[in-house]
Amino acid sequence: MNVYARKEKEQETCYQVNAGRLGSNLKSLAVFGANHHTGGIDRPFGSEADQQAREFLQALWEKEIGVATRIDAIANMWTVLPGSEQIPPIVLGSHHDTVPNGGAYDGALGVLLATEVLQTIKENGIILRHPLTVVSFSGEEPNPYGLSTLGSKTVSGKLGKDILVKVVSKIDQSSLQNAVSKAGGNLENVEEACLQPGEISAFLECHIEQGRRLFDKQLSLGIVTHITGIYREKIVITGEANHAGTTVMKDRKDALLAAAAFSLAFEECIKECNREDVVGTIGSLEVFPNAANIVPGEVELTLEFRCSQTAVGKQIIAALDRIEERIAQERGVTVRREVILDQAAVAMDRQIIAALDKSLNKMEEPFLNLVSMAGHDAAHMVNFAKTGMLFVQSIDGKSHCPEEKTDMKDIVKAGNGLLQAVLILDKELN
Ligand SMILES: [Zn+2]
Repeated sequence: MNVYARKEKEQETCYQVNAGRLGSNLKSLAVFGANHHTGGIDRPFGSEADQQAREFLQALWEKEIGVATRIDAIANMWTVLPGSEQIPPIVLGSHHDTVPNGGAYDGALGVLLATEVLQTIKENGIILRHPLTVVSFSGEEPNPYGLSTLGSKTVSGKLGKDILVKVVSKIDQSSLQNAVSKAGGNLENVEEACLQPGEISAFLECHIEQGRRLFDKQLSLGIVTHITGIYREKIVITGEANHAGTTVMKDRKDALLAAAAFSLAFEECIKECNREDVVGTIGSLEVFPNAANIVPGEVELTLEFRCSQTAVGKQIIAALDRIEERIAQERGVTVRREVILDQAAVAMDRQIIAALDKSLNKMEEPFLNLVSMAGHDAAHMVNFAKTGMLFVQSIDGKSHCPEEKTDMKDIVKAGNGLLQAVLILDKELN
C-alpha cells in the first residue's frame, strides 16, 4: 500500500459510530410496547406503542440530529442528509414494529444503526456526494391487518390502493386506512409513494441474523447473498372416515396416517438436499372429523419449504410429486395439492456485496456469506435499487422472542461496517 492509500485508509477508518449513544437509543426504543409480564415487546403496526416509537424516532431525527422527517402515504418514515450532488440517495433502514412478545433488536437495530451512521457522518462534517436517507418501514412483521412488509411492499407497487382501502383489523374490524392516517399517511395517495427504478441508488438493511450460523461460528457479521424463496402448498388428503372399533386395520384408509407418512417423506427429501439454505416445515394440520373413535377421513395441511436456488426448489417439487403418488397408492387415499405461495428467492446486488466485503476487510473483520432464511423489507427493494443486507449475530440464534439479543460489541462492528460501506458506495455509485 502506498503512503497516500494508507493515509486515506487511516483517515476513513477513524470514523466510528458512537457506541454509548447507540446503546442508549436501543434502550429507549425498547420501552415502547415493553410487556412487563412476559419481558417481551408488543409493538405491532397501528398500536399505541407503534405510535410512540414513531414519535421517538421523529424527535431523535429532528431534535437530536437536526434532519427533517417525511412520512409517506403508507406511513413509512424517511429522513435525509443532503449530499453535494443532485443524484439518487443511498438509503439505509429497516422497520421499528415487532411481532407480539418480540425482542428489542429485530428491525429496531437496523433503523437505529442507520440513524447512527447518518449522525456520525453529519457530526464529522463528512460531505457525501449522495444524499443519505434513513427509512423505517411500516408494518414489516405480521400484524392484525394481515399484511407483513406492508410499507416496503406498498412502495414497491405490489399493494395498490384498491386492495389497501378494503383491509380491516382481524381484532377489532377497524380499518387499515384509519391506522395509516393516525401514523401520518393517507391511503388515497399510495400511488405517489411508489418508488420508480433509479429513484434510489442503493438500499442497505442491517438486521439481526435470527438464526445461529454466525453464533455457532462465533462471528459477529455476515454478508447476505440471497433472501430465501418461500414455497407453500395446501394439501388435502382424503381417505375414509369409519368406526374406530369395528374397522379392522387392513380395511382402513386413514388420512392422518397418510399425512404422517407424507410429512416424514417430505422431511427425508429436505434432509437429502443437505444444504443449510434449504428447510421444510409442515406447520399446520387439521384432522376431520377429529374424534377419538373415528378413523380420520380427511386431513388438510400446509407444507412450506424455503430455498435460495430455483433449481433446488424444482427438484424438491419433483420429489413431492413422487411422494404424493407413492402415498396415494400405498394408503388408498387421494391427495390434492394446491400452490398457495411461490415467492422466488432474490439475489443481493453484487456491487453492494463487494462494498460490504471491502468494508469488513478494511476493518480486518472476518465474516460469513449467507442466505437470509427469513423475509425482509430488502426483498421488495431489489426492483428499485442495488440492494444488500448485513447480518449481525443473534445470541443463541434467538429472535421473535423476549430472549432475542445481540452483543453490543457486534452491534458496534455492524455500525462501523455499514458506515464504511456507505463511504465506499458514495465513491463508487453514480
Ligand atoms: Zn425484521
